[in-house]
Amino acid sequence: MPASAASAARTILTRLHDVMASRSHAQAKLNNVVEVIGEGLDSEVCSIYLLREGMLELFATRGLAQEAVHVTRMAVGEGLVGTIAQDTEMLNLAEATAHPDFSYRPETGEEKFHSFAGVPIVRRERAVGVLCVQHAEPRRYEEVEIEALQTVAMVLSELIANADLVDEEEALLSPAMTGPQRLAGLALVKGLAIGSAVFHQPRITIEHVMAEDRDAELQRVYLAFDKMREQIDRMASQAEFGVGGEHEEVLQTYKMFAYDEGWSRRIIEAIDSGLTAEAAIERVQQRTRMRMRQIDDPLLADRMHDLEDLSNRLLRIVSGQMGTAATMGLKQDAILIARNLGPAELLEYDKRRLKGVVLEEGSLTAHVVIVARAMGIPVLGRVRGLRGAIREGDLLLLDADGGHVTTRPQPAVVDAFEARFAKSKERQAAYAKLRDVEPFTRCGTRITVMMNAGLRDDMPGLSLTGADGVGLFRTEFQFLVSATLPARERQTRLYRDVLDAAGDKPVVFRTVDIGGDKVLPYLRHNDGETEENPAMGWRALRVALERGGLLKVQARSLLEAAAGRTLNVMFPMVTEPWEFDAARAVFEAQLTYLKGQKKPLPEAIRYGAMLEVPALAEQLDVLAPKLSFLSIGTNDLTQFLFAADRANPKLAERYDWLSPAILRFLKRVIQGVAGHDVDITVCGEMGGRRLEALALLGIGIRRLSITPASVGPIKELIRKVDLEEIGGAMNGWLMSPPRDLRSALIAWAQERGIDCD
Ligand code: PEP
Ligand code: MG
Repeated sequence: MPASAASAARTILTRLHDVMASRSHAQAKLNNVVEVIGEGLDSEVCSIYLLREGMLELFATRGLAQEAVHVTRMAVGEGLVGTIAQDTEMLNLAEATAHPDFSYRPETGEEKFHSFAGVPIVRRERAVGVLCVQHAEPRRYEEVEIEALQTVAMVLSELIANADLVDEEEALLSPAMTGPQRLAGLALVKGLAIGSAVFHQPRITIEHVMAEDRDAELQRVYLAFDKMREQIDRMASQAEFGVGGEHEEVLQTYKMFAYDEGWSRRIIEAIDSGLTAEAAIERVQQRTRMRMRQIDDPLLADRMHDLEDLSNRLLRIVSGQMGTAATMGLKQDAILIARNLGPAELLEYDKRRLKGVVLEEGSLTAHVVIVARAMGIPVLGRVRGLRGAIREGDLLLLDADGGHVTTRPQPAVVDAFEARFAKSKERQAAYAKLRDVEPFTRCGTRITVMMNAGLRDDMPGLSLTGADGVGLFRTEFQFLVSATLPARERQTRLYRDVLDAAGDKPVVFRTVDIGGDKVLPYLRHNDGETEENPAMGWRALRVALERGGLLKVQARSLLEAAAGRTLNVMFPMVTEPWEFDAARAVFEAQLTYLKGQKKPLPEAIRYGAMLEVPALAEQLDVLAPKLSFLSIGTNDLTQFLFAADRANPKLAERYDWLSPAILRFLKRVIQGVAGHDVDITVCGEMGGRRLEALALLGIGIRRLSITPASVGPIKELIRKVDLEEIGGAMNGWLMSPPRDLRSALIAWAQERGIDCD
């Protein structure tokens, strides 16, 4: 803000401060406010319109006819005042009547005034009113005057909120602010959801706008800048930002903005005009936002979003409101909006109220997506410009099936969506009816369909879906939701509860698979180093074998929890047979110890390995005789086979589960264990998709462990399949692959009336 604007605003603000501190009632205060502003800006007219019952009502004026107060009312979008509120943008006109939206109100007596300037009064990103000035002389207002008006409008928003002059909820939910918009993305977890937008990193509510002590505010903002710069510098040294490419670019931009003198100077000037540190940051941000709307270049617009992100960070630091929306708790059915999320962050949300997730990034096999799938929450990913298009509290219709989300929908659209939603629930109910139906193929083979789980809360899914057991229990989820390493007693309790819930159905516990995108803040690499490539780094069994104590505690917990029953345990990311031997030895040592203590023991222990690293396939002849079962983790296997990071959204289309490479590889694995008494299961996300499951049946897979929501659809598929027929077709395709195996398979299924959507 130029110095003169700062001083103009400061003079007005000082006087407004007295008005607001006075004991008069709200209307009298507003009457004084228009006088103070009018005088301060040397303006013949100054008026305040506020939103009441969906209309903008003239609440106070200096210069227009007093009879018009509480009489003149305009709809949002009507006239100049309504346009300002609708677009949350200022207008500055030398000749008001020349504007196409001008609407003449005779009761105000405004015909003698030509020039007009108005700014929105914004509360939580919504216009709750309009502040405007008018002059008889036709002239455009100077930038300093507009700046002062905008600063005053901020202060007014606080006064209005404190005096309960507008119904904030109504303003917040008003659907007419920018109208409906449909944003396209990639379906990461299918499904439909309706709810209001909640930002994972919420915008800050500013409590106080007017500063009491300018120096103290300056001090606060200096400190916040230091802290923010420190955070950004620290990020630069972290692996996830250190690998070059896009992340590095983003970080460079962040750094550039964080150290941008112009930005900090504008904030300091806003404090000089009498605002608090929070209000000053917000004020500068508002201005940036306004400029952003005029930018046509998407690249530049993206950069501006980065600045917005940084500005929010600064606001959070200065206001001490550091938490995410999860810490504050969801108040109603919500759809979460974020650039990206970690699995632990998602698990912090209240499952009953979280209905959907929309991400700017995200990929099919990222752990956050797996967790969401397990929770039955639809996820739409890779929505460009998401955070610029949606505002906190917007009503959203999330259609992950169709790959889009609609903001601020029209009532008719909501009705149609709800009808579809009801239909889809009916379909779910139809699948639920298959609960007690055993999945026999048309040719009479019983396929084993188990479900994947990771939390106590997942267990009711067993009886709801009728799955044959839990084929993959991801024990690391307990670690991910804990603030510290879970103690042995807590682990034992969880495993016992899970086994109790499963009754006579088997549960396969996978020992902790930490690392990759499952980061535990309390478990760091020994030498404290961050990794350049964590998916291929220190993770899963590699951590467990190196941190012997970790696996020992888990082995003890599992053995104790399974006393009197069968314990099925499997090790993740086995790369070489010796790793399996070493992990098994840890269990055997604990078993010996418990025997010595005369503690009750499991009736039987079945040991298995996960095949996720391609190298293991070359040594199956060595490993197979030692195994009770082998579980193929196609999520990791695929990323390693294709050298394409499963969590990198840019690579999501680099591999297809229906490519001959994967299917031929899996077939060789099946052949590799043939002749050994080893159950072979596929437990990656691939098995939960109908077309992919069809292909797996075709290459000889007879056991699947999949996300609970897929159990019904996959059972239904199985009942339509003739194994010999699909086996023959797959054989042919794998021997001489068609150009597009996926299309070939779809056509094959359609010809047989098998719906593979
Ligand atoms: C896999 O890699 O396929 C798997 C099931 O394990 P996770 O997804 O937990 O890494
Ligand atoms: Mg894995």
